[in-house]
Order: sequence, then structure tokens, then C-alpha cells
Amino acid sequence: MTSPLQITVYSTQPYDADFLRQATPSGIHWHFVGEALNLQTASLAAGSQAVCVFVNDDLSAPVLAALKQQSISAVALRCAGFNNVDIQAANQLGIRVARVPAYSPEAVAEHCVAMMLCLNRKLHKAYNRVRDDNFSLQGLIGFNLAGKTVGLIGTGRIGAATARILHGFGMHILCYDPLPQPELLPPSARYVELAQLYRDSDIISLHCPLTPDSHHLINAASLAQMKNGVMLINTSRGGLIDTKAVITALKSHKIGLLGLDVYEQEADLFFKDLSDQMISDEVFQRLLTFPNVLITGHQAFLTQEALTQISQTTVQNLQLLCTGAACRNELTSRK
Ligand code: NAD
Repeated sequence: MTSPLQITVYSTQPYDADFLRQATPSGIHWHFVGEALNLQTASLAAGSQAVCVFVNDDLSAPVLAALKQQSISAVALRCAGFNNVDIQAANQLGIRVARVPAYSPEAVAEHCVAMMLCLNRKLHKAYNRVRDDNFSLQGLIGFNLAGKTVGLIGTGRIGAATARILHGFGMHILCYDPLPQPELLPPSARYVELAQLYRDSDIISLHCPLTPDSHHLINAASLAQMKNGVMLINTSRGGLIDTKAVITALKSHKIGLLGLDVYEQEADLFFKDLSDQMISDEVFQRLLTFPNVLITGHQAFLTQEALTQISQTTVQNLQLLCTGAACRNELTSRK
């Protein structure tokens, strides 16, 4: 009988452990740790063949080298984005890496649209007012989405799912993507140049990966091209936005409404209960002072369906990576 695979799971939340256990056949033994992976915590993987990681775990070259010293041969990302992994270094070290490329894109798309609706109709304020017996409607005026123009940057799985939902609202949909896939999009969507998307959109939503090319895509220069009072939504990766430029744009009313599920420096904050601590990130604290900013803590993926799919694919990826079999979700520096 072969001995079970030993897998160290970093950044474990209670729901990660529950869903991974549910997806597990015999043959995998999980070691759940709450700590994020970094140079200090790499040693926690000693005795395992592979590690399972999430969006804010550090998989830079030095950390991968430290994992290699612990005889780790595989990394399973339980997410789609892989901007936190030095794929080239992993390949050179002989550590195989796989991700979960597609898990319920609707989960993220629906959260994105929930942020649009909440910000527009000021549900976050209304909730608190009614609980305080304040039934005044002053300051709660929104706008109809029907007939308005939304700009989607990135039309892969999540961008296309967002387009399909917004088509149902009767919106005009402008899209920008260097690799257009018109067959995924509803009839009200069309591809335009980025400059036109910035100029004509009432709402702009980001659905492209974070790469060296897309880092700070939203900056002072791109914001200057947008409509006054534009709504900006980011459910993709924090580094797509120059947060300081966005704060300046909020102060000048260039941005009228801002919804963020991700934040550039989120690794120090998100997925933890910091309610009894002082937050030293002054940029984040400034964002929280604006009444027209809605922030959620990287929860767009968090549905039953997505967690089930993530766990099942992660288990399959680990079994393939650790037995030397081909894995179609494997990442190589050539991809
Ligand atoms: P995908 O690979 O299916 O689609 C990404 C699209 O972006 C592709 O069509 C690609 O051509 C396009 N693209 C690449 N560079 C671009 C650029 N500079 N400008 C415009 N488009 C560009 O990925 P997906 O599954 O749709 O996921 C999109 C992103 O969403 C992921 O990279 C990830 O960062 C993020 N995400 C966030 C959550 C969350 O919980 N908030 C969950 C899953 C994914």
C-alpha cells in the first residue's frame, strides 16, 4: 500500500479545511496551518511532498528555494491568479506548480455586480439608517443601470460572465482585451480601444490579470481620461490600481463611486480579524473615510459552488503533480 501524500496547506481558513476534506479521497493527509507562506514559515512544510497556497502567499524565488530545501516538489494554488508565483524560478528548481484556472466565474461576476448595485443604490448606508430608525431618503439617490454604459477591461471567464449579467440590465457594454473573444459576449457588448472605453463608460470594471504590463493600469493619466463621477470597480487584483492616484481622484470627484474587493497591500490585512488592533496602513485608512467607497476583503470568490470546485480541482492537481503525471492546469514560464 502506498503511503498517503502529505500536503501542507498555508493560509488555511476554516472553510478551506472543510471544503478540502470534503473533496479528499483516501491518499491525502492535510497539514493545515493558518500562517501565510513566506521565508519564515517555509519550514512548516517539512515532511510534506507539496504545499497548497492562496492569493497572498509568497512564492518568490527565495521562498521557493526554501521549500525545495524541505523537499517540496509541487505547489497547488487554490486560486486562478498566479501573480504571486515566480514561475521561472519554480521551473528551474524543478517544483511543479498548478492553479485552478476556472471555478465558477459567475461567483466573482455576481459579487462585482453586487458592488455596483450596492454603491449605486447606497444599500450600505440604507442598511445602517433603517437599523437606526432613520427613514430619511436624503442622499440615497442612485441612477438606472438600464441605458448606461459599462466598460469591462478583460473579457476572459469573469469579464464575460459580468457582461452576460449586465446585458440583462439593459446596459451598453464596451470591452477591451488584447485577446478578444467575441463569441463569449452578449449582443450588447462590443470591443473598443481603451481610450474610448475610458471616455464613454459610466462604470468601469477590471477583469484582467495583474502582470508587469497591467500594473497600475488605473493611474493619474488613465483616470484623467474617464468621465467625471465614474464608478470604478476592482474585483481582480489590487496592483491594477495606483491607490494614491485613486484617492486624489476621489477627492476631486473624478471618481464618484469606488468598489474594491482587492487592495494593493491586502496581504497585511485581508483574511484576518484585526478588529482589536490599530491599522497602520494610512492609505487604506484614508480609503475608508470616503462615504462613496465600498471595500470587501477579497471575498468575490466565496460561494459554495466556487469552494467546491476549487477543492476538487486542487485535489486532482496535487494527485497529478505528485505522481509525475501530466496536468493541464500546470503553469510553466512558457505559458
Ligand atoms: P481569464 O484568464 O479567463 O481572463 C483574463 C482576460 O484578461 C484574458 O482574456 C486576457 O486576454 C485579458 N487581459 C490580459 N491582460 C490584459 C490587459 N492588460 N488589459 C485587458 N485585458 C487583459 O481570467 P479570469 O478567470 O476572468 O480572472 C480574471 C482575474 O480575476 C484573475 O486574473 C484574478 O486576478 C481575478 N480573480 C479575482 C477573484 C476574487 O475573489 N476577487 C477570484 C478569481 C479571480
